[in-house]
Amino acid sequence: MQSQVAYGGVENYFSIDSEQELIQAFRDRDQKKLILPKGLKFPFNVRSYFTWKEPSGVYTYLLFKLPNWDMPQGVAFKRTATGGEPVGGLCSWCNAYGSSEDIGLLSVAMNSNVSQSYLICHDVSCIEKIEDMAAMAGKDPEKYIKELYFRMGKLFENIRNFKAE
Ligand SMILES: [Zn+2]
Repeated sequence: MQSQVAYGGVENYFSIDSEQELIQAFRDRDQKKLILPKGLKFPFNVRSYFTWKEPSGVYTYLLFKLPNWDMPQGVAFKRTATGGEPVGGLCSWCNAYGSSEDIGLLSVAMNSNVSQSYLICHDVSCIEKIEDMAAMAGKDPEKYIKELYFRMGKLFENIRNFKAE
């Protein structure tokens, strides 16, 4: 029995039954870049979302599912090299402030020519940051978590609806 943290309407749990299910959550183009985390045991339960980095740090993966989706969806982000200028600032998903160590551009390949970049926490630790910030400010994190899920959902919607010009 996993511990359940109650957040009113923002509880978001799903489970992944097999390696095949995990892989198939990703698009073909992302499956080619997919390096699974070591030591994963199936089935496993996910609270909120599941994210990991491959060892070189170039790719970060995100696995997410909103309650009204049939299947979890995954995406591979590529860390975008910026031309010398360090990027930092506000994460566009959780509003955490950080240096270029923590926050930067992660890009998603929409097709072989087009990528979209998101200025977000490199390790997609947004939910932990929201919980920490809310705890420090004595606020209920629910509203911020809902916004985070909305933004994550939007990313996958953009991917699904992307049509090359
Ligand atoms: Zn963030």
